[in-house]
Amino acid sequence: MGEVVLERDEGAGGGEGQRPPIALTPRRAPLIGDWAVRRRTFTWRQARGWLEGLPGGALNIAHEAVDRHGRGDLADVVAVRFLARNEPTTELTYAELARQTDVTAVALQDLGVRRGDRVCTLLPRSPELYLTALGTLKAGAVYCPLFPAFGMEPVRQRLELGGVRVLVTDSESYANKVAPVRDRLPDLQTVVVVDAGGAGDEPSTAEVMAWETVMQEASESLQRNGFEIVSTRPDEPALLHFTSGTTGRPKGAVHVHEAVVAHHATARFSLDLSPGDLYWCTADPGWVTGTSYGIIGPLTCGATVITDSADFDAKRWYSILQDEKVEVFYTAPTALRMLMRRGVEMAHDYDLSSLRHVVSVGEPLNPEAVLWGLEAFGLPVHDTWWQTETGAIIVSNYPGMPVRPGSMGRPMPGVEVGVLERGADGRAGVVDGHVHVLDDPHAVGELAIRPGWPSMFRDYLGEPERYAKAFVDGWYLTGDLARLDGDGYLWFVGRADDVIKSAGHLIGPFEVESALMEHPAVAEVGVIGKPDPLAGEIVKAFVTLKADMVPSESLRRELITFGRKRLGSVAPREIAFEEHLPHTRSGKVMRRLLKARELGLPEGDLSTVERPA
Ligand code: ATP
Ligand code: MG
Repeated sequence: MGEVVLERDEGAGGGEGQRPPIALTPRRAPLIGDWAVRRRTFTWRQARGWLEGLPGGALNIAHEAVDRHGRGDLADVVAVRFLARNEPTTELTYAELARQTDVTAVALQDLGVRRGDRVCTLLPRSPELYLTALGTLKAGAVYCPLFPAFGMEPVRQRLELGGVRVLVTDSESYANKVAPVRDRLPDLQTVVVVDAGGAGDEPSTAEVMAWETVMQEASESLQRNGFEIVSTRPDEPALLHFTSGTTGRPKGAVHVHEAVVAHHATARFSLDLSPGDLYWCTADPGWVTGTSYGIIGPLTCGATVITDSADFDAKRWYSILQDEKVEVFYTAPTALRMLMRRGVEMAHDYDLSSLRHVVSVGEPLNPEAVLWGLEAFGLPVHDTWWQTETGAIIVSNYPGMPVRPGSMGRPMPGVEVGVLERGADGRAGVVDGHVHVLDDPHAVGELAIRPGWPSMFRDYLGEPERYAKAFVDGWYLTGDLARLDGDGYLWFVGRADDVIKSAGHLIGPFEVESALMEHPAVAEVGVIGKPDPLAGEIVKAFVTLKADMVPSESLRRELITFGRKRLGSVAPREIAFEEHLPHTRSGKVMRRLLKARELGLPEGDLSTVERPA
């Protein structure tokens, strides 16, 4: 790995004063060995060759993530370390994970789960979650994680839409969220409860079973009959993931076993993972990041995954980075902004010298956060862009590549992206039967991807028309707007739904939010377009302040002036201070909710809104 270089975007509008490129040498060279030979390019065919596969061309994610290592050289390496507040840390080696996921697969089969059936978890990050995820895949069934803090109705909707056959959960969630709606879930045959306690108080109805009992019986059945992982076809469904619901009702994206080719290649190439690396992904497996990169990708690389079930807490997070000697850290802009809010001094109270690579996903990463990373971690934060639908990282700042703060990076090798001209409705439009790929480095268009990458979603569950509509003229349309500069770097502008049209200007919320974030008092910003008789829309910004800052009229005026200096005519005309901004539970600012509240419109689907404690 060479020098890490920060570059400034020459093409970006607005902004004062050029920041000089910053060069620094990473603290520690990556592990030496065949794995560490850094390829700068690959094809999907080559990437497929890095996996083992099963006889007859079969491919099963769980084989690549677990069995291959559990029965090989990495058997004794810790696969997952489970941290929990006020509870002892537990861990599973690859060998243990391989054995226990066999038992789980047998347990599911004994419960009647067959190839293609759907199995859900509603669990915190725990061994049972990992065992169910990987055991389901071994049994050839489809795994669907549910975010553990979902309320009753979001849980019911997803279980119903998924036609879920077996749910693994804990007794509290069962009692509060599932039992009351059980009679409305005809497909749900069995609920397995992980904390059913001692023999005396085990759930006894046929359909509600205790994890321990189920696993005990499966372990005996495994000894009698053995188990062989199901030889799934590469195009056979493996995962069902619901989107974050940022723009509306969540969609159920279906992924297949072949996705593991992309999970693995991106975990190596973009996250820089090698066997034995200590790696922490802060995303919950209830969202695609927590599965693709909290479970599958890093395990296929033979890394040690650290997982924590506690909620965000700045001091706890720094302690984990320090005490677990985390080398690669994958997190989200919201979390980084919360760390930034506590000041860089807090970071310096901890020894973070093990960190080698810090990566972000899920929302636009403000340039301010990239540079803050340099101060706090001694490393720039590397942004990655992808979606539930893409299943794996599509655009990335990867190690060794010059980072341009504010850019999402470059497309992964093997991925072709295009920035497409937009029609009157703001989305990529077809003219004379074709879309038009923009080649002007300043032009903003809809980000699109050529189908064919292995982790591409293969369906929106129960919504085939919506799936079909996502593909136009040989491109998958992402719904995000971006710009591709002359050097192949992509710059996020905003979601097509969130873009603001003001007096003939097209304004991306990200640019405005990032500019206001540069003000020392500001912690977080969400920007919307507010209808205006003259301009069409004006920009309104909702702002939360850093811990020691108090909202005032003079600060409001100062921020308006600050915005105008940086942004000129696209600056916010109105600024409102908020205690909290509405977020999805996966950590995204919900601009549609800010807008609905501002305009007094119906709030729409709220199943994924985070409720501040
Ligand atoms: P829904 O599709 O239900 O409205 P969602 O799009 O937020 O929700 P996800 O699939 O979890 O659901 O998120 C993907 C989206 O997150 C992307 O389309 C993009 O808008 C945003 N995103 C992810 N990474 C980045 C990034 N690095 N920079 C900017 N935006 C990002
Ligand atoms: Mg989306």
